[in-house]
Amino acid sequence: MIASGRDSHPRAVPAARTRREAPAVTSAGREEIRSAVIGAASGRCQCTGQCGRPHARLGEGRCEAEDSILAPLHAVPRDLAAPLDQAVRLPAAELVALCDRCHELALRITGRRRQAARPAERGPALWELP
Ligand SMILES: [Zn+2]
Ligand SMILES: [Zn+2]
Repeated sequence: MIASGRDSHPRAVPAARTRREAPAVTSAGREEIRSAVIGAASGRCQCTGQCGRPHARLGEGRCEAEDSILAPLHAVPRDLAAPLDQAVRLPAAELVALCDRCHELALRITGRRRQAARPAERGPALWELP
C-alpha cells in the first residue's frame, strides 16, 4: 500500500466516524487497535522527522524501520504530548506507528518543547548568534 508519486498534497485526514467519547479500551482491544494502526502504516514506521532524524532522503521521507517480532512498532498518539489517560482512549485514526528509536527520540523532543514553553531557563547567549 505504498502511495504512488503524486502524493504531494497534504493528505486529507478522514474525519472520525463517530465523535462520541470512546470507552477505555481493554488490553485485547488495544492489541486490535495496534494491529489496525500498524496495518494502516503498511507495517512501517510513520515517522517523517518527528524524531529529529533526517528521514527525508530515505524511502519516501519516512523512517524505514519495519514492524517485527524483535522490534515491534509502537502505536502512539499523533500528538505525543497527549496525556496518557487520553492517549489510551484514542481511536486508531488518531494513532501513528513509530519504531522504538523514533518514538524515544520524538518523545524527548516533545519533552524539550514542553520545557521550552516555560519561561526560558537558559536563553541563547548573544555572542553565540552569527
Ligand atoms: Zn522510525
Ligand atoms: Zn524518525
